[in-house]
Amino acid sequence: MSQEPLYCARCGGQLTPRMVDGRMRAVCDRCGFVAYRNPAPAAGVVLVESGQVLMVQRKFEPRVGMWTLPAGFVEYDEHVTECAIRETKEETNLDVELDGLFGAYMAMDDPRVRAVLLLYRCRRIGGELRAGDDALDARFFPLHRTPKEIAFKAHVQALEDLRRG
Ligand SMILES: [Zn+2]
Repeated sequence: MSQEPLYCARCGGQLTPRMVDGRMRAVCDRCGFVAYRNPAPAAGVVLVESGQVLMVQRKFEPRVGMWTLPAGFVEYDEHVTECAIRETKEETNLDVELDGLFGAYMAMDDPRVRAVLLLYRCRRIGGELRAGDDALDARFFPLHRTPKEIAFKAHVQALEDLRRG
């Protein structure tokens, strides 16, 4: 779990835990700024072709070498659906068209940040499959023979939901 911030992002003052809106939150002693902590939005895709699901092998920390569905964090000025399409292109070189929400997952085991992961069903509309600059590998796996080394629990849950149909 990430650490509480110690100093105010607005004025540099000291933060002290105080009760705000029914929870203990870090509040600036000097200017009253409340350092709310919220999960970061992330988005990705579930692409199934001929009973096989598209997965990506991580190239960077955390969890180098482990596998995930194509996904990443939403940029500040980006819609979650744009993020899902962009991340798929960056990691697998496939162009996809989204086909509705597959599911929403809480990602609580990423050491960088807690995240809300929105996964979309999609279909391929172009591109040749190859691992992008931020992936070691990208390939399809039979639904019941996905890698054992999955980087995050949210992706394990999504794969279980996918197998259940
Ligand atoms: Zn302050």
